[in-house]
Amino acid sequence: MGFNILFTISEVASFAKTGGLADFGEALPKALKKLGHNIIVVMPRYYEIDRKNLEHIPGPLSVPMGKMGELYAGVYKSYIPDSDVEIYFIDYELFFGRKNLYTNENGYSYGDNDKRFIFFSKASMELCKKIGFKPDILHANDWHTAAIPILKNTRYKNEDIFKDSKSVLTIHNLQHQGIFPKEDMEILEIGWEHFNPYEMEALGAINILKGGIYHADAITTVSKKYAQEIQTKEYGFGLDDHIKAHSYKLYGILNGVDYTKWNPKIDKYIVKNYDIDNMDGKKECKKDLQKIFNLPERNDIPLIGFIGRLVEQKGIGLIAGAIDKLLELDAQYVILGTGEKWAEHFFSEISSKYPKKFGCYIGYNNQLAHKIEAGSDLFLMPSLFEPCGLNQIYSLRYGTIPIVRATGGLDDTIENFNPITKEGTGFKFWDATPEALYNTVKWAVDTWKNDKDAIKKMQERGMRKRFSWENSAKKYEKVYKKIRGIDA
Ligand code: ADP
Repeated sequence: MGFNILFTISEVASFAKTGGLADFGEALPKALKKLGHNIIVVMPRYYEIDRKNLEHIPGPLSVPMGKMGELYAGVYKSYIPDSDVEIYFIDYELFFGRKNLYTNENGYSYGDNDKRFIFFSKASMELCKKIGFKPDILHANDWHTAAIPILKNTRYKNEDIFKDSKSVLTIHNLQHQGIFPKEDMEILEIGWEHFNPYEMEALGAINILKGGIYHADAITTVSKKYAQEIQTKEYGFGLDDHIKAHSYKLYGILNGVDYTKWNPKIDKYIVKNYDIDNMDGKKECKKDLQKIFNLPERNDIPLIGFIGRLVEQKGIGLIAGAIDKLLELDAQYVILGTGEKWAEHFFSEISSKYPKKFGCYIGYNNQLAHKIEAGSDLFLMPSLFEPCGLNQIYSLRYGTIPIVRATGGLDDTIENFNPITKEGTGFKFWDATPEALYNTVKWAVDTWKNDKDAIKKMQERGMRKRFSWENSAKKYEKVYKKIRGIDA
């Protein structure tokens, strides 16, 4: 029997994307639909999403916003590409008609993010009423929609349509919690009795994620390891005790990969396709990548790739700290990313200083991301924390050996190379220090140069691994069943 699922998320890859959250927003609903569930997705209509390509749903959507009064949104509809999953867009120009999703051009969070996403959460619930969708499951993601489990148990608890609903909150990144002035209680319209340190108050402010964790019937994170880590001081961002108190309903479910997009056999962005039985194409891809970055076309040294948001989380401070020694190694580097200004300047400068060793592209470029996955020999992901991480999983499929810090999803998906048995799928380090990073990159470079057989075996082992969304979706289904009291 399929469930009616309202799936609310702030980004979906085909429409707007800043990171892995969008890949999740696109792939999981598709996989759940294939399992027979009746799922609808709701996201904001940002500036970049052209209304012309969407179907307009007549009549305004009225959204109660407490002291701000009643606001009226437009609703549009489309389908997630290559699927019959309906996706609804909440259109409210003043909040979402902006180029960037969460921050201004200088990288600072918009001052009205509280209103934007409380509005979006409420609008998603109002939409159910408007279209007559009675959800069995309300699946919210990150702080942006963490108000939904709260609202379901409070503001909307007597609404017929949500009476039997259960809620799931997936935490993709605990660093962002939605901490706002307490006056927002009046926009939420949920009564001051909920403003207490057990529920959603923290240091005199509202913490939306905290409230979502309290109210959701189940909480999930995107890897098992991360589910453990967020219960510790080191990774808990102040919510570790709160999460520990709710760990009875916490599950770690690893993300999958969309192999229709990330597969070197059929990848339309790379210069030559290849697969485990014929790796010649990978050499062409390496050449192509060296050409793009104006690096000498050498096949006797490894090319090391990095793709990601240039933020502290991704371990860019460790790379910067180790850069002098890394440049001494007989290897080439390419970096693709945007983020903190210091990092953009730092890596650009390194690339102009060492044009034969270090290529850098500051920007967001999906095609180049594919080319880097295919053309690199090794892939560096030294994150300080990593809820799941996708690029290391893509790397496995592309025969590009990951070098990772053993945290969160990186630890769950990569097996460390064992020089004695020659088993493993990548190179791991534990200490979050430039030294540990450098030593491990050196280990990988030395192995690449001196033990071709081990490298080939690691590539093959990685390329055979599959992280299917079908598998992940079945685990979410199990959680849904559990909270609905159905034996899974
Ligand atoms: P996060 O969600 O923390 O950013 P993930 O590894 O889970 O990290 O997902 C990042 C996703 O965004 C991947 O699909 C990656 O390829 C993509 N990505 C990140 N930065 C860029 C960029 N500058 N250009 C193209 N794709 C990028």
